[in-house]
Amino acid sequence: MQDDKKIDILSMTYDELSSALVEMGEKSFRTKQIFKWLHGRNAVSFSQMSDISADLRNRLDERFYIQDLKIVRKLSSKKDDTIKYLFELRDGEHIETVSMVYHHGNSICVSTQVGCKMGCTFCASTIAGYRRDLTVSEIVGQIYAAERESGRHADSIVLMGIGEPMDNFDNVVSFLKVLSDERGRGQSLRHVSVSTCGIVPRIRELADMKLGITLSVSLHSAVDTRRSEIMPVNRRYDIHELIKACRDYTDKTGRRISFEYAVIRGVNDSDDDAKALHSLLSGMICHINLIPVNPIKERTYRSDRSGVNVFAKKLSDMGLNVTVRRTLGADIDAACGQLRRKYEI
Ligand code: SAH
Repeated sequence: MQDDKKIDILSMTYDELSSALVEMGEKSFRTKQIFKWLHGRNAVSFSQMSDISADLRNRLDERFYIQDLKIVRKLSSKKDDTIKYLFELRDGEHIETVSMVYHHGNSICVSTQVGCKMGCTFCASTIAGYRRDLTVSEIVGQIYAAERESGRHADSIVLMGIGEPMDNFDNVVSFLKVLSDERGRGQSLRHVSVSTCGIVPRIRELADMKLGITLSVSLHSAVDTRRSEIMPVNRRYDIHELIKACRDYTDKTGRRISFEYAVIRGVNDSDDDAKALHSLLSGMICHINLIPVNPIKERTYRSDRSGVNVFAKKLSDMGLNVTVRRTLGADIDAACGQLRRKYEI
């Protein structure tokens, strides 16, 4: 069978794989061995599956393919241990993945779409628009390929690369199920963060699923008109609707939300901005993560460490729970979407 006619085995949940094997006349207990090879041992070929007969390995190879993302560029930071990968997908599209080392462990930031529809004005991922959603295997495959190449196991995973995870909802949810399945990788979802620009109905759906993930919400302004200017999604789901969904999320799941806030000089860092954040979030169990906005070529937005620290102090003096995120990989354009843009121009 031609490779492009084969079935994408890495996108399958345990139960889907089990049904496919039974359909081939195999005993369903084989699923356990194969799923472990795929998701527990990052196998890239059926020939590695040494506890499976040669005959079955051949039949698997005829029917399925194992997604193995091709690294076309690798940038290693000279300042820290950050590595950024540019992957080429089977249809020639490109996505980015970043592997980072923190004192508490290794982390991987993955993409969920090729491009993005959301149109946030400060973000490089959205400039050339949206191309398509990533499949489960293309999301999970970024983690496995980066781990194989770097030799670093990812303790935590963040869905903060290119794309809006809540706009590729079904695949992202299947990805979380596959990743956390005890019979495979058994990833603790406490160490998985899903970041969203604020698609309210999806936040509500996610709350009902009680997956145990950490939800990050990209806020970037607590002033409704300002947020609409920099994040068009706010014109569909305004700030009050968003915060109500966030409060309900915390009530339902018992998990506190992390709000991302890229500080942009002269745009969202005034005293009024701080006060608006305070009145929006006070009394809510949450955490604000400030990031100096990463300058992108197409925009004039700027930020500096000292301005961010001043803004952070204002917020913490008001009693808000705030941290300033360390910037890693600044010398290799680790902000999402930047490498893909450069490569494709
Ligand atoms: N679409 C999702 C996840 C991808 S972006 C979301 O919006 O949350 C990951 C984070 O990086 C988001 O908080 C996003 O707003 C932020 N971001 C995008 N471009 C940035 C830039 N130039 N500087 C700083 N943060 C940026």
